[in-house]
Amino acid sequence: MSILSVVIPSYNEEKMISKTAKVVAKILEDAGIDYELIFVNDGSKDNTWAEIEAANASNKKVRGVCFSRNFGKEGAILAGMSLAKGDCAAVMDCDLQHPPEILVTMYELWTQGYQVVEGVKASRGKESGLHKLAANTFYKIISDATNIDMSNASDFKLLDRKAVDAFLSLPERHIFFRALSSWIGFKTAYVEFHVADRTEGVSKWSIKSLTRYAVSNITSFSTFPMQLVTGCGLLFFLFSIFFGIYSLVKYFMGESLEGFTTVILLILITGSILMLGIGVIGYYIARIYDEVRIRPRYIIASTTDQPSITKVDTIS
Ligand code: UDP
Ligand code: MG
Repeated sequence: MSILSVVIPSYNEEKMISKTAKVVAKILEDAGIDYELIFVNDGSKDNTWAEIEAANASNKKVRGVCFSRNFGKEGAILAGMSLAKGDCAAVMDCDLQHPPEILVTMYELWTQGYQVVEGVKASRGKESGLHKLAANTFYKIISDATNIDMSNASDFKLLDRKAVDAFLSLPERHIFFRALSSWIGFKTAYVEFHVADRTEGVSKWSIKSLTRYAVSNITSFSTFPMQLVTGCGLLFFLFSIFFGIYSLVKYFMGESLEGFTTVILLILITGSILMLGIGVIGYYIARIYDEVRIRPRYIIASTTDQPSITKVDTIS
């Protein structure tokens, strides 16, 4: 019989672990699905790891992975996937905002032969107007870069073993699971779900971290910002042809002493656009630097299977 691995990244989720473990286990048991739950403690500062160990003690199908520090959700997904033993593996949030009943639907689609089952948000939950606008812009750019509509994408997905292995073989340091699961291809199905409200704890996202997340994911998937710089350059070139001819004509007509304000404006505009352009290029160089250093994407300090293990992500 096939096994479903459920990878659950957990960061400061002490209040959720035992509840999530019980709820998910019950739903999968009732549906007659053999499973394992892999909680990845992403360097939590609270008692998350102790809670995971307790959950493992009461249900051996619960496994735990403990990071040496906070590596971020994507690292946690990667580590969980690499330790998953199942014939298919799902990823869901620890806060039960991804309704666990959907796991059963996803699993059924998998048994019908789908290799990637994507959870799609039917609604985006409660968000302010500005947040919505920022999210829409972000997804617009990412969707253009990947050629896949990402506007309601989530990290709630199920991958067949083949897709998991393909995902794990990607060598890039910066991973964006949400988009990569589409990028790897395979026969894909979509399942709609409603984002539930978080019952315990708080969301880990601040405006600052969301901005950083958006910028780093855009630059990892798209060279659009660099093309924007080229676009500006082109625009200014046309502008300069026009102004060049205009000032030459004025010069030969003997009226060239005006236009000081225009000069100042032009210097300011070109100056700022040049600097912005260099900044964008610098950002991409920084990303290249990050990639070529080939640092591991996570470091495991311990697991419930082997408490004394220290494991470093090895793909290079
Ligand atoms: N998470 C993580 N590492 C982090 C931040 C978050 O593993 O550095 C986990 C978190 O425990 C949760 C999931 O990622 O299971 C989604 O986080 P959160 O609920 O804060 O995000 P939101 O639902 O608000 O988008
Ligand atoms: Mg959440």
